[in-house]
Order: sequence, then structure tokens, then C-alpha cells
Amino acid sequence: MKLNILAFAAHPDDIELACAGTLAKHSEMGENIGVIDLTQGEMGTRGTPEQRLDEAAASADILGLRVRENLGFNDAFFKNDLAHQTEIVKKIRQYQPNIILANAISDRHPDHGRASELISESVFLAGLKKFETIDDNGKVQEAYRPNKVYHYIQSLPIKPDFVVDVSGQWQKKMNSIKAFDSQFYKPDSEEPETYISSPRFMKMIEARAMEFGQIIGVDYAEGFTVERYLGVKDLNGLI
Ligand SMILES: [Zn+2]
Repeated sequence: MKLNILAFAAHPDDIELACAGTLAKHSEMGENIGVIDLTQGEMGTRGTPEQRLDEAAASADILGLRVRENLGFNDAFFKNDLAHQTEIVKKIRQYQPNIILANAISDRHPDHGRASELISESVFLAGLKKFETIDDNGKVQEAYRPNKVYHYIQSLPIKPDFVVDVSGQWQKKMNSIKAFDSQFYKPDSEEPETYISSPRFMKMIEARAMEFGQIIGVDYAEGFTVERYLGVKDLNGLI
């Protein structure tokens, strides 16, 4: 299956916090949307890897994703090296997405910035004919490089290059975050409190989206940065 958008994420729940509204919106438009999580988030304080996989699947249903996979890289220790690049190149060539979304270029969690670089470099490599990869059926894959790579803004405030109106998808986004029952605010949880499990964190997510939305005159928006100048067909394409 060819995907319209393929979003990569260092951890299950990154895309929910950062760009779930945008993914839900494109899914509602009838596009094929996929998410590939690089790790199972096994170094996270709360929950287990098995729980996180179940939660990721539940969220995928809410967002209408056609594909959600997990590459099983080592949480906190995966590297931007040939072995990891090869796994990502294989997925890019398999799904041939028009648009790739990647983690924030730098963030509070060091995995996010490293994943951002790993994904960007893999996108470049995926277009090199002489970088050979073999698919699961033993067939040599064709080179493929999408030219649209956008980085979603997650924990630290980064000035966006563009924002997407997700007012109509806000409830879906919140439901997809709540699907990660083990990670976020739950008053009766006996697990230790973390940076992301306090009610303050959820308020920050909403406040950030409201701030991005306010700037373009809508209720909620999600922010992205680009790797090269954005072009529009004409000025009417801008809101
Ligand atoms: Zn993360």
C-alpha cells in the first residue's frame, strides 16, 4: 500500500502529542496515513512495552491510521548509523509516502533530536539508487525519495514554519492521547509521577495548540518546521 503521509516517531505517543490532529484530518480526507514508532518506549517510567503497544494500536484506531508499526529500536540508545538508517530506508521505499513527518529537530528528550536526524538522513539515502535494500520477500527495493519532510513540534517551544488548523480534530487528538492510559494524567494511578503525567502537562499541550491556533484565527493548531523554503502555487493557498 502506498501512503500519503508516513510519520516516524522515536516513541509511541510522540505523534499523539505533536501531530495527531493533522494525521486525523488527512485520514478524514480519505488519505492513507501510517505511523512507524522507532522504539517501544521501554525506558519510560510508567507502563510496560506491551501496554504501550496496545495503547498505540488503540490510538491508531481513533486516528484512522492504515498502518502502525514498531521497529523495536532500543529506547534511549538507538543510533543514527547504517543499521538503523537501513531499516528506515526500507520502510520509506515500501510505503512510498508523499510526505514524511519526523520528530522535532531538537527537544527535551534527546531521542527526539536524534530521531529527527536519523529520519532526515534516511530520507536522503532512500533516493540513492546504489544504496541497496532488500524487502521482506527478498526483492531488491526501488530507490524512492519524497521531497516533503516536516518536523512536528513537541515538548520544547520551537518557532513553527507553518501551523495546521486542527480545531475539528481536537477531540480525536485528546482521545488518542488518553489511549496512552499508562503515561498521562490519571488521578488514581499508583505509578510514579513523571514530567508528562501531571495535569499541568496536558494543559501545556492544549495551551500550545491554542497559541498556534490564535495566530491564524482558529481554536487549535499544530506546528511544524521545514528543511527548505516552502512554496505555494499562488497567494490564495495561504490562510
Ligand atoms: Zn518521545
